[in-house]
Amino acid sequence: MRASEFHLSTTREIPAGAETISHQLMLRAGMIRQLASGLYTWLPLGLRVLRRVEQIVREEMDRSGALELLMPVVQPAELWQESGRWEQYGPELLRFSDRHERPFCLGPTHEEVITDLFRREIRSHRQLPVNFYQIQTKFRDEIRPRFGVMRAREFLMKDAYSFHLDKDCLDRTYQTMHATYTRIFTRLGLNFRAVHADSGSIGGSFSHEFHVLADSGEDAIAFSTQGNYAANVELAVALPPADPRAAPTRPMAEVAPGTANGPRVTVHWMMGRDGNPVGLVLREEHSLNEIKAEKLPQLSAPLRRVTPEDWARLGQGNPAAGLPGADMALIADHAAAALADFVWPGHSDGPVWAGVNWGRDLPEPVVVDLRNVVPGDRSPDGEGTLEIARGIEVGHIFQLGTKYSAALNAQVLDEAGQNRVVTMGCYGIGVSRVVAAAIEQNHDERGIRWPLALAPFQVALAPLQYTKSAAVREATDALYAELQSVGVTVLLDDRNLRPGVMFADLELIGIPHRIVISERTLSGGQVEYQARHEENACLVDRADILPLLQSALNPPER
Ligand code: ATP
Ligand code: MG
Repeated sequence: MRASEFHLSTTREIPAGAETISHQLMLRAGMIRQLASGLYTWLPLGLRVLRRVEQIVREEMDRSGALELLMPVVQPAELWQESGRWEQYGPELLRFSDRHERPFCLGPTHEEVITDLFRREIRSHRQLPVNFYQIQTKFRDEIRPRFGVMRAREFLMKDAYSFHLDKDCLDRTYQTMHATYTRIFTRLGLNFRAVHADSGSIGGSFSHEFHVLADSGEDAIAFSTQGNYAANVELAVALPPADPRAAPTRPMAEVAPGTANGPRVTVHWMMGRDGNPVGLVLREEHSLNEIKAEKLPQLSAPLRRVTPEDWARLGQGNPAAGLPGADMALIADHAAAALADFVWPGHSDGPVWAGVNWGRDLPEPVVVDLRNVVPGDRSPDGEGTLEIARGIEVGHIFQLGTKYSAALNAQVLDEAGQNRVVTMGCYGIGVSRVVAAAIEQNHDERGIRWPLALAPFQVALAPLQYTKSAAVREATDALYAELQSVGVTVLLDDRNLRPGVMFADLELIGIPHRIVISERTLSGGQVEYQARHEENACLVDRADILPLLQSALNPPER
């Protein structure tokens, strides 16, 4: 591609309102433009990258045996009513009516549509297992669209749905998808982790998220320093302390906050299922994991903090004004339950209670895992300790079980000729989010540093005096033709810019390999070569440039 014939549209300024590096760089490099909140146009440069992701995803899905199809964006409400999600999904589901006043929605995901297709299309267990996928536009009316295409309202997803007669067969496809995702993100050249995850609102019992590691990631993920354990912090298990609780050594006393000695606890008062407050007790240095708390049978779901109005209605003062009596329900995190002689909080600047002990001054609590893990915790797999990193969720695989197949009555005839409800899995990749995540992980102060697999062009040709020097032009055109003939994607920068401006542009858009062609080096039979991730350029004999690029562009299989 000649730059003069391509829409390159770069800017130096940091665009207003773009908080993350990837959003800034995608705008500055001219990859995307915002149409409205959460809606983006992919410019030719950006689209080339998006297509690279799509292609790798498609190749690996095909290799896994999955079958590509394409479903509509617009979905009839009846299917969502059948699954129960018309009521459950909330305002992320954009609903509207057609001219006949029939209700529809824009698909945020396609479980209903694929299950409907399945029940009309597949009759026999002999047609199973089957895994259908599509690469298609989703719409979710996100409450806070942000970070550009990272959390957009309209975005591109690869979604796959598998159907099975039994759980064993689902397990096998799930493993295949796990391996397929690992291949995909490895081929994309990304540093990622597959982590155990909460199944969230889609439901089902078993799931993994694939995260691209980047400091700006919205999720915290915990992984073992030595073992294989990796989990979203939302879900990561905090083991009980290795040592048992010590015996009390001190009497309890009411003291001024500054003078209290000993480990401190914090108490989160939540509304219990029976309408009475429940105190969740954690060590002060630990934070409450609301996902774990939400699963407690004693608490109301969704979680609700006890408000001052609740206390007044219950005829009780703020419990922080005194130690809870024997009638108050307390649930302690393992680490808090293992404390002796601890400090119980008081009012904001009132006295606190020091030397407090379970079983003596407070009832013995119910003891559970309630907290977020912290770095240095023992790894749940017994191997080493936990480390915490930030991650961007780019993929998610779930075992759905029969949630949708039962609701929509998707059955096949089994070997005995009996109708059986099928078991399902679903597997998503945020294709457009991958582009932003790749930039979050691969950039420097000069711009994007594309992993080779994602680069919009593999090589940039940067001639000096292209229009003025016949020698430069001939050498450049010859190299351009030669590279194209061996299938290398090349951007020839024939825009006649000053060298500094041209180089800055090529670095901003992140092309992995750059060749500068000038009269000065040509006179010695050489060109100048620089990889995007290297600090300096080097001179290379003209005859050696093709082999050099070919080996750089075709690294040995990992
Ligand atoms: P998140 O927790 O980020 O909202 P999710 O759990 O809602 O994600 P899924 O329903 O599992 O996401 O969708 C599959 C994939 O689609 C996600 O792993 C993510 O990569 C991508 N994705 C989800 N929401 C968006 C969005 N608003 N913009 C871009 N990509 C998205
Ligand atoms: Mg979401």
